[in-house]
Amino acid sequence: MSAKIISGTEIREAILEEIAAEVKEIKEKHSIVPGLVTILVGENPASVSYVTLKIKTAHRLGFHEVQDNQSPDISEEDLLALIDKYNKDDSIHGILVQLPLPKHIDEKKVLNAIDPDKDVDGFHPVNVGRLMIGGDEVKFAPCTPAGIQEMIIRTGVETSGAEVVVVGRSNIVGKPIANMMLQKGPGANSTVTVVHTRTKDLAAHCKRADILIVAAGVPGLVKPEWIKPGACVIDVGVNRVGEKPSAKDPGKMVAILRGDVDFDAAKEIAGSITPVPGGVGPMTITMLMKNTLKAMKFAAEIQ
Ligand code: NAD
Repeated sequence: MSAKIISGTEIREAILEEIAAEVKEIKEKHSIVPGLVTILVGENPASVSYVTLKIKTAHRLGFHEVQDNQSPDISEEDLLALIDKYNKDDSIHGILVQLPLPKHIDEKKVLNAIDPDKDVDGFHPVNVGRLMIGGDEVKFAPCTPAGIQEMIIRTGVETSGAEVVVVGRSNIVGKPIANMMLQKGPGANSTVTVVHTRTKDLAAHCKRADILIVAAGVPGLVKPEWIKPGACVIDVGVNRVGEKPSAKDPGKMVAILRGDVDFDAAKEIAGSITPVPGGVGPMTITMLMKNTLKAMKFAAEIQ
């Protein structure tokens, strides 16, 4: 039987509607709206397109959005001063610095300068620590892992006691999602294994997984025979494997995207599976918006 396809696009729409309704209600009751600043240094085309999508989504939800574009020549000192300005601005609840930054700027220094209570990306060491402690300590989970967990919950997959195998140990996906799945609480309580490039028998670990989360960045890494029948497969990988003419504008070429899992074969074995594109991808910006709303509620002490 073919797997249930977990549509990130559909889940995104449901969550955005919930956020928009809550923003409207809070605005009416308390006369405040979430404020998000997006700081873009330079004009890297991929960064411009990510930031544009973030701004568009924030506007759709009724957020106060500040778009702060800076020259690629901005000094580290000036960028740190800019962050300090937004740290002190009460109308801004979330600060997003689009990565990568130009080589002359120390990314770590910049991310660490963001007030942890406005760190809606969840990359500040304070928020990484809070995530590790779990429970009420958590303020902002990083957006892609938060999106993955939300998809699992909304698909109705049982996580308590489930064997979760995470392929990849990056700081933005693998490590945080592994940590989140082993915490106490809804959408978690799992038994977690993290596998990576030094793991001896990748296939054997994957075959045990009730929930298989793959974030390696290697197209087709996970073979269909590595999937336990009925498992939930979350494919985080986004790999450009070629180009094709755009469906909307055939004169224009667009990237062909593939995940880390052989989707066509895997969907005949898995119980549920995310496609690429249209799976985890749409969830990241959605969770950024959710974190910004949370940041405003913390700041205004709204339950
Ligand atoms: P990364 O390169 O930082 O980490 C990849 C991890 O996978 C590493 O820990 C490495 O050990 C492991 N790995 C790589 N090849 C492997 C192999 N052959 N066997 C076992 N383990 C292997 O990547 P990342 O930032 O975590 O991203 C992973 C993928 O997810 C990429 O394709 C990226 O584009 C995608 N991604 C998507 C979203 C989204 O959809 N919103 C967000 C972040 C990342």
